[in-house]
Amino acid sequence: NAVALGVPWQGYDGQIDQQHSNDFRLLNELALALRGGSGLYLVYQPKVDLRNSAIIGLEALIRWRHPQKGDIPPAMFLPLAEQTSLIGEITNWVIEQALQQLKTWHDQSIFLPVSINICASDLSQPDFADRLEERILQAGLPTSMLGIECLETEKINDSKAALHGMDMLKLRGFCLSLDDFGSGYSNISYLRQMPLDIIKLDRQLISGLLNDSGSRIIARSIISMLKALDYQVLAEGVEDEETAQLLLHYGCDQAQGYYFSRPFIADALQPWLEAQRPQRAG
Ligand code: C2E
Ligand code: MG
Ligand code: MG
Ligand code: MG
Repeated sequence: NAVALGVPWQGYDGQIDQQHSNDFRLLNELALALRGGSGLYLVYQPKVDLRNSAIIGLEALIRWRHPQKGDIPPAMFLPLAEQTSLIGEITNWVIEQALQQLKTWHDQSIFLPVSINICASDLSQPDFADRLEERILQAGLPTSMLGIECLETEKINDSKAALHGMDMLKLRGFCLSLDDFGSGYSNISYLRQMPLDIIKLDRQLISGLLNDSGSRIIARSIISMLKALDYQVLAEGVEDEETAQLLLHYGCDQAQGYYFSRPFIADALQPWLEAQRPQRAG
């Protein structure tokens, strides 16, 4: 970099400015996409019951197709949005889209709950649960049809407002999951403060199962502990049948991952369900 090449440190500063101005441009483009209503869309990934591979719900995941830069992964734009008020706008947009889609599926007699991803700052909004309840009831749906996946465990745990937000959601009948358990520093004592229904085991815990006996011991212990605490346990990132079998054997309830299905656009659900049917009967 500039410093290593002996360029005065203002050169290094320039690099930071460049990064800032790129971030700033991306955030502006994201705001435009949100307000202009183009470029952003949701995809849905099935959640299955490990015992019989039956679909039990879907997770909504945001996608951004930039007119010039192509697909920009959530990991590139969400962390930036989280530093600004834009994340609140994104959450609102995701809620509206997911509710519309739920209603469409409902009208087609497809009754699968959809979960959305929510960060600590969303949970801290004083009236988040009330507004969410109002919106879902307005759509003519029960609160049990919308799941909330809580991201940023540590930030939630450090915030009385976010923990209170979770309590309010639980009280209103929303199903609460803790996302990415087992990634970073997942302190088990965090769990007991939160009114959780489902713990989602992060892909980090799952991906090494076949190759490493230590990983198997850890996964097995975590699952049996969580089951003993009466949680439902869902494994993320299951990419092959052997891993699915192992997790079932360890007592894991549910799974998501490329082995079952990649995330897809809403219109692909009906054909996917039809393709599953003969398999399940057989
Ligand atoms: P997450 O909520 O833990 O979602 C799981 C991620 O793993 C998704 O990545 C999904 O596409 C990917 N995935 C699923 N199965 C497999 C698999 O078998 N193998 C591999 N390698 N990956 C798999 P995605 O869509 O890129 O999302 C990344 C993260 O961005 C999400 O992690 C979530 O934290 C965040 N995110 C996505 N959509 C939203 C949103 O609408 N709002 C918020 N606040 N965050 C979102
Ligand atoms: Mg999630
Ligand atoms: Mg996750
Ligand atoms: Mg994850």
